[in-house]
Amino acid sequence: YTAKRSNSGYVVYDPALKAHTQQNLSLLAELRHAIEHDELKLYYQPKVKLKDNTISEVEALIRWIHPKRGVIPPDQFIPFAESTGFIGIITEWVIQQALHQRRAWQEKALPLTISINISARDLLNPKLPSVFSELMNRYQAEPHWLSLEITESAIMTDPKSALEVLNQLRIKGLRMSIDDFGTGYSSLAYLKKLPVNELKIDKSFITDMENNPDDAVIVRSTIDLGHNMGLTVIAEGVENQATWDALAHMGCDAIQGYFVSRPLAAETLENWLQTSHWKFKEDHHA
Ligand code: C2E
Ligand code: MG
Ligand code: MG
Ligand code: MG
Repeated sequence: YTAKRSNSGYVVYDPALKAHTQQNLSLLAELRHAIEHDELKLYYQPKVKLKDNTISEVEALIRWIHPKRGVIPPDQFIPFAESTGFIGIITEWVIQQALHQRRAWQEKALPLTISINISARDLLNPKLPSVFSELMNRYQAEPHWLSLEITESAIMTDPKSALEVLNQLRIKGLRMSIDDFGTGYSSLAYLKKLPVNELKIDKSFITDMENNPDDAVIVRSTIDLGHNMGLTVIAEGVENQATWDALAHMGCDAIQGYFVSRPLAAETLENWLQTSHWKFKEDHHA
């Protein structure tokens, strides 16, 4: 470790070396342990299509079910996994787990599409497309079993390499959406080149759009922009009827949020689909 002396006289460590601190080394070891001992779990949050109020897709959101600390949300370990490179192992686990779940749902006549979150670091991995091919072959999966959510900022980290990887994934028939749209500074010229099908408006614009006219204008313009580019548009973070109504009025294609459901464990989601007034409907991918 390279220690340096701060003005106050205390020894401080170079923040660049943060990943090597004792605490982080043990977090990394714990994460490895977690993956080997089935402590990671995917929860699924439905997406509702506004044209007929049906559900054909769910987003997989990871949780760490820690034996002592309880449920740990992704914000508490995904950024760390990204900074250490361990995210590659997690992403592979997520793809495999989602395919496994989709296979199980196939057998229960519940062929939901599962969207998975891909991180910036994954996009820099030129092997990502072959990881997909290999796992999809293993599960005899069709491309519409999965869709990918990639944040706008992840793409903008290294737009040129990202575009290459995205194009290869697109050729395999995977659908893609730009997650957290509106927060990532992409230019419209660049956006036009991306092989994506959908824009997902970031929840920071949705949460308060009923009271904040600026947010409402941004949301309305984003929906129009997406449609003019031939993309479908989904809003995340919808928490009440008023927001739902406003989005429907603006012509948004789909919504996701606590108003419909929180992310649920697979078994809970299955029960919920049977008892709630929201209904599953297979998407025929025309
Ligand atoms: P995201 O992909 O943008 O997911 C949306 C987040 O908003 C989720 O938080 C979701 O539970 C939450 N959310 C959904 N509806 C509402 C709502 O109505 N109100 C509010 N306030 N929040 C809502 P979560 O599950 O904690 O995930 C946080 C982020 O962690 C995700 O943001 C995604 O970037 C990342 N993440 C989650 N799972 C994975 C994963 O498997 N791999 C990777 N690389 N990242 C993941
Ligand atoms: Mg997402
Ligand atoms: Mg998002
Ligand atoms: Mg997000």
